[in-house]
Amino acid sequence: RHKHKVTVVGSGNWGTTVAKLVAENTREHKDIFEEDVQMWVFEENVVVPSDSPHYDAAVGDKPQKLTSVINTHHENVKYLPKIQLPPNVVANPSLLDAVKDSSILIFNLPHEFIGNVCKQIKGHILPSARGISCIKGVTVTEDKVELISEYIGETLGIYCGALSGANIANEIANELWCETTIAYNTPPCDRRAENGAANNSAEGEHRDARGQVSKTKLTAVPDDYPPVSHAELYKLFDRPYFTVSMVSDVVGVSLAGALKNIVALACGFIEGHGWNMTAKTAVMRRGMLETIQFCQEFFPETIQEMTFWESAGWSDMIVSCTSARNWRYSKMAVERGVSLHEVERTELNGQKLQGISTTKEVMSFLKARGVQDKYPLFKAVEGIVDGDFKVEDIPVLFRQ
Ligand code: NAD
Ligand code: 13P
Repeated sequence: RHKHKVTVVGSGNWGTTVAKLVAENTREHKDIFEEDVQMWVFEENVVVPSDSPHYDAAVGDKPQKLTSVINTHHENVKYLPKIQLPPNVVANPSLLDAVKDSSILIFNLPHEFIGNVCKQIKGHILPSARGISCIKGVTVTEDKVELISEYIGETLGIYCGALSGANIANEIANELWCETTIAYNTPPCDRRAENGAANNSAEGEHRDARGQVSKTKLTAVPDDYPPVSHAELYKLFDRPYFTVSMVSDVVGVSLAGALKNIVALACGFIEGHGWNMTAKTAVMRRGMLETIQFCQEFFPETIQEMTFWESAGWSDMIVSCTSARNWRYSKMAVERGVSLHEVERTELNGQKLQGISTTKEVMSFLKARGVQDKYPLFKAVEGIVDGDFKVEDIPVLFRQ
């Protein structure tokens, strides 16, 4: 009988954290998962800082391959420094080799890179692989908005769910407790009968995130693999310091995670301007209203309002507007009077602010539909990023 081979596609701040927690679980559930977890690393040269315990005076400031540093020292010195990774996290610079024969693919990289990654791995993965997207963003083509999980599923011909929550990578890497939400609709072809026998003839057709019969013809998870359903995904992701809640609303979980980054920018602007929590909570409330409105307007068939009470909903909104990167660095940009791109370039050491591109993408979609005025806060954030709207004019939005 096969076990699931797990690959994390991406190795940034969150990608490396998720690889760590998943690898702790594959060690504990060896009946279901292969112990080693592949982690695809976008290879780059790094200099190990002299205050790192992994600094080697003989190597000095000579750049080394990030994958080789991770596999030797079990630490991602660039994107998750000072966190010991389990030795069964295997950094792999070859994308195709990392995903080869993997039956569970965890996508975890800034959303602007997912298109290129999917193009490269298309046709090189197991047709029965299943995906979980930890990416907070959307893809927009002309007047179409797609969830990242939808885009991955359609491009690769697989089923892909979503993980999102109030999750600050550095805190979880330090094993400080939090919750998360995983949205996964086990496809009918994967549902197994009570006695454990495969039910691959599948009653019912698989429906996509919009409730339509899916155009993607899925290949069932073969019956010589353990099933992939809520129980197995729970075992893969839940840790004593990472409480997983399983739901089926992929739209709500994905869009709440993507759109809160726009609101987090607004909160950073507000605080950089000198206003405090009371102003921020007004913006958070307005931002959540626009988020729910967006879900109801464009994904009315499947959105479930209770999702906004999950970690992926209000909790993520609150944490993102008070302690995440999009908030922190938009505040800094206003305080310093520089652009967000400038702060990203000078302060983030390669990490990305997803709110900048998400604002552009969401606004280009809303404009193509001619409905941008129904989303005044999102519109104002774009205006502030472009220098066309002033932070001090935000209260005007609340008088309309
Ligand atoms: P990050 O901001 O640390 O991004 C840097 C990553 O991008 C690095 O791994 C880098 O190698 C990679 N990269 C750079 N250029 C690339 C290219 N051309 N192709 C492919 N990869 C390239 O990333 P992250 O924090 O791991 O974020 C991944 C996703 O997780 C995002 O959507 C983010 O919103 C979400 N997220 C992040 C956190 C967090 O606390 N960091 C928490 C929850 C969700
Ligand atoms: P940032 O990318 O702004 O750090 O957000 C992390 C996050 O998604 C918190 O839940």
